[in-house]
Amino acid sequence: MAPILSRKAESFTESVIREMTRLNLALNGPERAVNFAQGFPDFPPSAEIIEAAKQALDDGFNQYATTWGAPQLREAVAAKQALAWGRPLDAEREITVACGATEAMIAAMLATVKPGEEVVIFEPFYENYGPDCILSGAVPRYVTLRAPDWSFDEGELRSAFNERTRAIVVNTPHNPTGKVFSAEELALIAELCQRWDAVAITDEIYEHLVYRGEHLSMATLPGMADRTITISGASKTFSVTGWRIGWLIAPPDLTAGIRKVHDFLTVGAAHPLQVAVATALGFPASFYDSLLEEYLERRNAMTEGLAEIGFEVHPPDGAYYVMAGIGGLGDHDDVAFAHHLIETVAVATVPASSFYHDPALGRDQVRFSFPKRVETLRRGLEALRGLRSGAS
Ligand code: GLN
Repeated sequence: MAPILSRKAESFTESVIREMTRLNLALNGPERAVNFAQGFPDFPPSAEIIEAAKQALDDGFNQYATTWGAPQLREAVAAKQALAWGRPLDAEREITVACGATEAMIAAMLATVKPGEEVVIFEPFYENYGPDCILSGAVPRYVTLRAPDWSFDEGELRSAFNERTRAIVVNTPHNPTGKVFSAEELALIAELCQRWDAVAITDEIYEHLVYRGEHLSMATLPGMADRTITISGASKTFSVTGWRIGWLIAPPDLTAGIRKVHDFLTVGAAHPLQVAVATALGFPASFYDSLLEEYLERRNAMTEGLAEIGFEVHPPDGAYYVMAGIGGLGDHDDVAFAHHLIETVAVATVPASSFYHDPALGRDQVRFSFPKRVETLRRGLEALRGLRSGAS
């Protein structure tokens, strides 16, 4: 029989993050299943943002917005980022709203990378970047971040760049490790981008979740403003992952290409939700302080609990994931272990091998995500205490 799928569709598999979520729900039902696999909150967003969304529906924002984003949202993103970066931003020529950071990333790659050109990616990596490369015809070049501090080897990064390099993806704070890239690391990446005429595509969706150190944007480094595409969005900051509102900030020439790709991919993100996010971007500083305080409590509950059970954990500096070593529990196969957790204690995690191009590199770890109510964290940890060594 003739193959029914395209070569591209055949060359990647279902998202392991969503597979784990689905398996746990199917086997254990919504009452019992604890989802530490997929990183989304199980608590509600602020009442103000919900109110703003309702208001936007009532106010008639129910047809297409301008394809590259409702003006009030682009203006709000420009104002927020201008303040953070200390330079003006042009909402008319530098900002594009997309259906989440996910669409933003594929739009950025499709707009900038020619088939066969290389894109440097740090691994472990957020699983979308692999398929993003395949869909855009890019050839990924992996540079390994090494536990426990998730640092990388300067020589390895230098040798990943060459005349075919078109872009590097920099995700900081980083999923799945929680790494927050330092000023020195970003400066090295910036130097290499300039030397090899490459674009930095940054995924900064966890920009407001930094527990140690500080979040730095590549776009603020000398010489990088005109070669950086900065991606962020509302999902994590405002706990609205289902709204699919993300954005890209890029120099006008790159923005023009991104907007064309975005237009033909999706036309645009949900108009009333764009309007609501514009309102949310005006929340006071205290909103961000409480967000961080609450996440710090969740991070500590998760990491302390996992350590007591026997996982090897180092509290992450940012984002809302922790990679946990399973060797101390007598297990060395992440996939078997993750399935075992679902089957025996109804807890979903993500086997770390799915974040590496060479699965062997992730065999002894699983990823836990902790954007959950403290009582959910406690319930999941309590279930995990029932584990015995020799799990698989
Ligand atoms: N970013 C989240 C994670 O890594 C959610 C992924 C998804 O399902 N889109 O878990």
